[in-house]
Amino acid sequence: MDIVQFIAAKRDGQEHTSDAIADFIRGYVQGSVADYQASAWLMAAYLKGLSPRETLALTETLTHSGRTYALGHFGAHSVDKHSTGGVGDKTSLVVVPLCASLGATVPKMSGRGLGFTGGTLDKLESIPGLRTRLPAEEFEGIVQQYGAAICAQTPDLVPADGKLYALRDVTATVDSIPLIAASVMSKKLAMGCPAIVLDVKVGSGAFMPCLDQARALAQMMIALGSSAGRHMVALLSAMDQPLGEAVGNALEVREAWQVLNGAGPLDFRQHCQRVAAEMLVAAGLFADADSAIDACERALSDGSAAERFLQIVSAQGGQVEALTQDRLPGASVIHEVHSPRAGYVTSLEARAIGRAVMALGAGRVRKEDTVDPAVGVVLHAKVGSPVERGQTLALVHARDAASALAAGQAVAAAYTFGESQPETPPLIYEVLRG
Ligand code: URA
Repeated sequence: MDIVQFIAAKRDGQEHTSDAIADFIRGYVQGSVADYQASAWLMAAYLKGLSPRETLALTETLTHSGRTYALGHFGAHSVDKHSTGGVGDKTSLVVVPLCASLGATVPKMSGRGLGFTGGTLDKLESIPGLRTRLPAEEFEGIVQQYGAAICAQTPDLVPADGKLYALRDVTATVDSIPLIAASVMSKKLAMGCPAIVLDVKVGSGAFMPCLDQARALAQMMIALGSSAGRHMVALLSAMDQPLGEAVGNALEVREAWQVLNGAGPLDFRQHCQRVAAEMLVAAGLFADADSAIDACERALSDGSAAERFLQIVSAQGGQVEALTQDRLPGASVIHEVHSPRAGYVTSLEARAIGRAVMALGAGRVRKEDTVDPAVGVVLHAKVGSPVERGQTLALVHARDAASALAAGQAVAAAYTFGESQPETPPLIYEVLRG
């Protein structure tokens, strides 16, 4: 293919043929298209957009860039889930073992940190020893034995999205509806689950800042899934402030472990139950969301969801003592952020918190960067919290004093205060069904 011509066509707003998109993706995976050329195309696609036909072609090409599982390969009760990414969004760490403990099969392919949001794989890998790059037979074996596993893209499974995703992370080309839709749906279609639940985040800590854009993204993904014969559900969920209290890889794993043990922040726990309930109903295991939520509550309080998580962690090589004996990586500096006044927290800008945590080292600036599992922020006051002057708003976990101080200033600036208590923001705005 003439790659320069291909980039120029998108730069000039032309529509690609499906064959041209397939050639480009094949060339990128095989190495004849360089990173800088793929970056230029991504920016052109970001700025000029992709038509529905191009988005479908990109999704299909990414899906088939490696092996795929046939529809229903993992069984009639198999269900997949994906979030479009948010700050403090550690939902998969809870809902995957929770649904597996209630009879669903969840073969889950997740992503790494993207932009100012964290990624499930980076979070999970903060458990010492845990592997996410699993050979297909091992992945399938764990899913068969425990009902779930969480894996990364490999040279075998959706490799093209793995490469493009890493490039988008560091080239400011993440928040594009067609690029997100193709990226998410390629991973979901490759796993062959008959039911797919999408958690589409809306707000300052999401790639879709307003409801209209989030709805358009959800509708595009529902169309891609429905045309491939999948039962699709999309929740549009709030991401103006971080979900839960912890933001940062190991800190989020610790918080997910708390929720799996029936504790943890209420907003995060309730969000997990809503998402898991949709998954369980879509998988045909419960007749309605209310009975599924009751079952989730029981599985979180009787230890069965936590037990299932330990089994999956252990099967993927992770040291379970990191969870059971609180031995996750910890930061050497912990810095308190204090409230400048008394009143109520009226807003807590999620994107600013996500950026502060990235700057601490929890995300990547270059593709080759390694993430620091220990750093992050724990929020002690969220929207609606009453605060006194000087009260601790948040704890910054950092690797040195200078980065702790810089993050502390950014976290303090993310808070807004007022005289009266604002209404508790909703967790879920809408549910769309395919
Ligand atoms: N999650 C993905 O897998 N891809 C995106 O582009 C955004 C979120």
